[in-house]
Amino acid sequence: MKALSLAEQHLLRYGITEPGQIDLDTIAWTMGAKVRFRRLESCEAKITGVQNKAIITVDDRFGVRRARFSLAHEIGHWEKHRNQILACAKQDIGSVNGKAKAKEREADRYAAELILPRFMFVPRLKAFRKPSFAAIDELAAAFDVSRKATALRFADLSQMEVMLICFGPHGRKWFRGSSSWPDNWMPKRGHDPDNGVMELLFGKKNEAKRPHLHPASAFFGHYKAKRYNVYAHSVVSRSDHENREVMTLVFPETADMFLSSDAHSRW
Ligand SMILES: [Zn+2]
Repeated sequence: MKALSLAEQHLLRYGITEPGQIDLDTIAWTMGAKVRFRRLESCEAKITGVQNKAIITVDDRFGVRRARFSLAHEIGHWEKHRNQILACAKQDIGSVNGKAKAKEREADRYAAELILPRFMFVPRLKAFRKPSFAAIDELAAAFDVSRKATALRFADLSQMEVMLICFGPHGRKWFRGSSSWPDNWMPKRGHDPDNGVMELLFGKKNEAKRPHLHPASAFFGHYKAKRYNVYAHSVVSRSDHENREVMTLVFPETADMFLSSDAHSRW
C-alpha cells in the first residue's frame, strides 16, 4: 500500500475517517489558520502567515465546491510554504494544463489529498463496476467536491484503464490517463464527428446518462484504433459561452485493446 500523504496523516491524527467529517475550517484552525470568506478583487484566495498563525481569505462567489477546493489549496500553501504571503488567482487553483508554477501544483496536490483522500476515495471508487460520470457525480456529492476535481482524482486513482479528456471549441485542451493507461494511446488533438463531443459542446444535445460505444478511432490516432470500440461518457464541464468545455471519460470495450502481442506480428 502507498504511504500516507501529509494531508492524509493529518486527517487520521484527528480521527477523520469519513468524507462528511472533512471540515476544512476546523482543519485549518488545528493548524493555526483562521478562515474568512469575502469578496477579493485581484485573486480568488490568499494566505497571510506569520510564525504559527495565518489568515486565509477565500472568495466564495464561484460556488461552494470551488470555494472548498480553494480553501484546501490555501491550507496546502500553509503546510508546504509557511511564512509566505501568497495570493492565488483563478488560474493558479486547480489548473490542469501544466502551466501553473510548482508551488501552485504542490498546493493543488495537497488539496486533492485533503478533500479526496486516497484511503477514503479508492474503496468507494472500487464499488462502481464501470467508470461513468454517474459514479463521479455520486463521489463528488459524497465528498462535496466539484465534478472536475473528482473526475481528475478518479482518473489518477482508478486501477482500470480510463482516460479523462477535456475538449474546448478548438479541440482537445488537456487529458489525464490512469496509471495503467498506455502512453502510446494519446487522444487526437482535433474534433471528430463520430465521438459526440461537438454536439454537446455546441449545445445541440443533452448529456447522456451513461457511457456509449464509439469507434476508438473517434478519439485516438493509434494504428489499432480502427479495430476496437471504446466506451465514452461526455458531460459539459463549463457552460459559460466562450469557455464552454466538455469532459469525456473513455475506457476500452474489451481488455485486449491494449495487448501488445499483435504489435509484433507486423514484423
Ligand atoms: Zn496558490
